[in-house]
Amino acid sequence: MKVVAPSFEVLDNLDNESLAVRIEFCGRICYKSEDKIDRESALPFVSKMAEHGHNSVLEMGVVTFEITCAHYHQINELFLTHPRYLQIDRSGNTLLVTGSVRAFRELLMFHPDCALVNAICSFLNERHPYFFSTILPKNGFKDTSDISVTKLELSEVDKLPASVYEHHRHIAVKFIVNRAVTHEIVRHRPCSFLQESQRYCRYSDDKFGSEVTFIEPMFFEPDSDEYAVWQQAMIDTEKMYLRLLQTSTPQAARTVLPNSCKTELIVYANLTEWKHIFKLRTSKAAEPSMREVMIPLQEDFTQRFSAIFS
Ligand SMILES: Cc1cc2nc3c(=O)[nH]c(=O)nc-3n(C[C@H](O)[C@H](O)[C@H](O)COP(=O)(O)OP(=O)(O)OC[C@H]3O[C@@H](n4cnc5c(N)ncnc54)[C@H](O)[C@@H]3O)c2cc1C
Repeated sequence: MKVVAPSFEVLDNLDNESLAVRIEFCGRICYKSEDKIDRESALPFVSKMAEHGHNSVLEMGVVTFEITCAHYHQINELFLTHPRYLQIDRSGNTLLVTGSVRAFRELLMFHPDCALVNAICSFLNERHPYFFSTILPKNGFKDTSDISVTKLELSEVDKLPASVYEHHRHIAVKFIVNRAVTHEIVRHRPCSFLQESQRYCRYSDDKFGSEVTFIEPMFFEPDSDEYAVWQQAMIDTEKMYLRLLQTSTPQAARTVLPNSCKTELIVYANLTEWKHIFKLRTSKAAEPSMREVMIPLQEDFTQRFSAIFS
C-alpha cells in the first residue's frame, strides 16, 4: 500500500489549450488513461465522448460569446428555453454568454428552433464539427445572419469588470484527496466534476503499482497508537480488496475500500461558485481534511484573482 499527502493543482495550463485538448485531459482522469494522450488523441477521444453521450466530460470546456441581436424577441426566445447552465449578462440587444460544450449541444437538441441557439451552435460547429456531427439539425442550421456572434478570447474575458467577470471566468482545479473529501465537494451543484473511477480502475494492475493508495490522515500523529490502528486497517483492507479482485470486478471489490482511499477529482466552476465554496469549506465548521486543501487553495485564488477574492 502507498500513503500520500493530499494536494491540489490549479489547471491554468489548460486555459489556453483548445477545447478538445482540455476536455480530453480532464476526461481521462476517470479511466486514469492519461498515458494515452498524444498529439493525435484529443479529437478521437472527444468525438467518442460526444457520440456515446458521456456528456459530463463535455462540460470541461467553456466558451464566452458576445452576441448582438437585431431584434429583442430573439433574446426573449433564448430566455424562454430556461438556459440554467449558461451565464448570461445583458446590455440592451447585446448579450455576454458563457456555456460549456455540453450546454450548447443540449440547447440545440432540445430547442432546435431558437435562433440564438442556432447562431451559437453554427458558429461552434464551423470550428469544432466533432462536437455536433451526431446532432446536426435535419435541414441544417437556420439563417441567423441578423445575429452577430463573436467569441471572446480568454485575455478579453480577463479584462471584464469584476462583477461580470466572476460569472464568466471559469477555472479548473485537480484535487488528490480522500474519498470523504470528494464526497463533500461534489455536493456543490453549479460545478462540473470528473473523478477517478473505482469501477474502471483495477488497482492490482501494474500502472497502479499493484497496490491501493491512501491519503495520509491529518487527524493522527504519525507515531501515535491511533495512526498504528489506522495503518493496520488500511493494510487489512488492501489485502481483502486484492483478494476479491482475483474472482470479481473492480466495482465489486471496491465495496471494501474506505474513505481514506486516494481519489483524483477535477472541479470546474466559475469564480462566483469558487467564492461560495471557499466560504463554506474554509470555515471552522468545515471538515478538517477539507480545510487542509481549501485554505491554501483560497490563498492561491486570492493571489490570482485579487479583485474577486481579496
Ligand atoms: C459545515 C457543513 C456541514 C454540512 N453538513 C451536512 C449534513 O450533515 N448533511 C448533508 O446532507 N449535507 C451537509 N452539508 C452539505 C450542504 O448541505 C450543501 O449540500 C453543500 O455545502 C453545498 O452547498 P450549497 O447548497 O450552499 O450550494 P451549491 O450547491 O454550491 O450551490 C451554490 C448556490 O447555487 C444555488 N443553488 C444551487 N442549486 C440550487 C437549487 N436546487 N435550488 C436553489 N438554489 C440552488 C444557491 O444559491 C447556492 O448557494 C454540509 C456542508 C457544510 C459546509
